[in-house]
Amino acid sequence: MTDVAKLLTNGRRAIALTGAGISVSSGIPTFRGQGGLWSRFDPMEFAHIESFRSNPVRSWELFAELAKGLFAARPNPAHLALAELEHHGLLRCIITQNIDGLHQAAGSREVIEFHGNARELVCLNCRAHYPASMFSFDSLPPYCNCGEILKPGAVFFGEPIPKTALLRAYAESQQCQVMLVIGTSALVEPAASLPLVAKEHGAIIVEINPEPSALTATVTDYLLEGEAEVVLPQLAAAATNYLAI
Ligand code: NAD
Ligand code: ZN
Repeated sequence: MTDVAKLLTNGRRAIALTGAGISVSSGIPTFRGQGGLWSRFDPMEFAHIESFRSNPVRSWELFAELAKGLFAARPNPAHLALAELEHHGLLRCIITQNIDGLHQAAGSREVIEFHGNARELVCLNCRAHYPASMFSFDSLPPYCNCGEILKPGAVFFGEPIPKTALLRAYAESQQCQVMLVIGTSALVEPAASLPLVAKEHGAIIVEINPEPSALTATVTDYLLEGEAEVVLPQLAAAATNYLAI
């Protein structure tokens, strides 16, 4: 912990890559952990673009249930700690795989949403975007003005990563000197490659996860084993303490 706090405070360019694990203590289950929705539905099936295209109404029924949990969630101490690090100039940006918007709700400003977000709905026909708040999820599915059924703004399996987010995430990964990899199993590509890109460009990889991930044995330099909501506030406190010295 002390070594990592020092890494953050000695002027190195640090960024974070976050996954579903960082939002667990906000009440949003990961795909693989214990959790209501995912024990009943296979995310690879319902969140795949082909299943949306073949049966958008069914996809929407599931997404509406998921969205209720996402929209009610509040940032937890892990999100707040990352916002604090950014505020002190110790973290350049966050690349998040999450669609829950909790980094922005915690006060983080530089957030790259690699997998889109649940706050918007998009039209696959005319590319229009709408705020999700314009629609009542009681009458499904929502329609675009052009007549097409809208899709949740989250990137589905089988869809490309939004170009701006992809380019920015790769650039930040190539340029960073420290990458905090938080709450991700690093199994979903291409996000899982970002720590490799960072490492190949000389960055130190710090992983924060209660369990080893696909990266731990090969890519990770420091594993801070534990829950993000416990470890990150300690790390932020230690780093800001060094700043004050
Ligand atoms: P994942 O479900 O594959 O892995 C979650 C990881 O979080 C695991 O390595 C687990 O050990 C770790 N973890 C569990 N509790 C934790 C805690 N308290 N603190 C830190 N780590 C913890 O998630 P993924 O790698 O992000 O990939 C799944 C995909 O689905 C991603 O695109 C993800 O963003 C998306 N997803 C998003 C949300 C959300 O927006 N909150 C929720 C579920 C899935
Ligand atoms: Zn449209």
